[in-house]
Amino acid sequence: MAEKTELIGLSRDELQKALTDIGEKPFRAKQLWQWLYYFGETDFEKMTNLSKVLRQKLSEHFTVTRPKIVAEQLSVDKTRKWLLEFADGQRVEMVYIPEEDRGAVCISTQVGCAVGCRFCHTGSQKLTRNLTTAEIVSQFMVARDTYGEWPSPTNETRYLSNIVVMGMGEPLHNMENVVKALNILTDGDGIAISRRRVTMSTSGIAPHIVEALQRTGVRLAISLHAPNNELRSTIMPINNRYPLEEVLNACRQYQAEDGSRYITFEYLLLDSINDSLDCARQLIALMKKYTLRASFNLIPFNPWPGCAFKPSPNNKVKAFARELENAGFAAPVRVARGQDILAACGQLKSKKDAESK
Ligand code: SAH
Ligand code: SF4
Repeated sequence: MAEKTELIGLSRDELQKALTDIGEKPFRAKQLWQWLYYFGETDFEKMTNLSKVLRQKLSEHFTVTRPKIVAEQLSVDKTRKWLLEFADGQRVEMVYIPEEDRGAVCISTQVGCAVGCRFCHTGSQKLTRNLTTAEIVSQFMVARDTYGEWPSPTNETRYLSNIVVMGMGEPLHNMENVVKALNILTDGDGIAISRRRVTMSTSGIAPHIVEALQRTGVRLAISLHAPNNELRSTIMPINNRYPLEEVLNACRQYQAEDGSRYITFEYLLLDSINDSLDCARQLIALMKKYTLRASFNLIPFNPWPGCAFKPSPNNKVKAFARELENAGFAAPVRVARGQDILAACGQLKSKKDAESK
């Protein structure tokens, strides 16, 4: 018998085709979609509005798989980190960051990352492979399993209310799978996370920025981290390929399509590298030059074993933030969460430290 098809990760059209291929009516796709993504059901036997014969047939042709949870850690601040393993043994980390009455799940898009930013633990691991659509979507489904948040809550009081694509990997290096996954996660008949509550962060793969956002309608965050090409190229070698002008032009084009769009620029503060007031002033000038509606997210650097950088001291962070705020930009300093379990930005990895040496 042919190998079974995994249902998670299929688009609605693909699901419909999978059903008609086994001789079922197309309308079954809607019912099945609801079971998979609204109820979060993984067992065909429990899909009770389908006949027993159909349930049996589905289980003969299809699978509904979650990644295996290899480890789960809870921080003192309630941030939770999962180490997940896929069918081929590859692993990624995922993080849930709770706020008062909501919270964001930070999902990964690749095992490792080819971009190689100097300050990033993930980037120090090289790219192993892209995640499939199913692997991206099912991360969030694991978080929902853990918090018992099925069926999809219909009001706005959800624990898992937001998604940030800020885990391991560069999403725009895995464009097709990421776009498809985000469209599944935001589908109103299923998991139904509002597109406004999904933010995709990129290191600036300029030619894909506008297209990815047009096809998903999610929000954009750019990992800027430096106000000029010379400095940015030294900490983010990808800047040699896609220099600031190209990245910021793409941002401008994205905003030109819809006057309500804001972009978050992430700016990691590294001691004596990019944290001077002069850097802050260059940043302001850059925003004005490209007429961007922007807010900043100042990120304290999270050290990891073997990295060369140091976090910027508090007084410099404050002065940097004040400079941006005085120029009219929101510039909150991100509170590092889950540090005791190495769950903060840039600390995620797929292997234990001993193994990654
Ligand atoms: N690859 C994408 C998304 C994942 S990284 C990107 O780079 O945007 C998410 C954010 O964490 C990025 O802004 C990244 O620059 C930042 N980051 C990486 N390493 C970090 C570290 N050691 N401390 C704090 N933030 C870090
Ligand atoms: Fe990749 Fe983002 Fe890390 Fe850079 S910061 S190496 S793009 S995951």
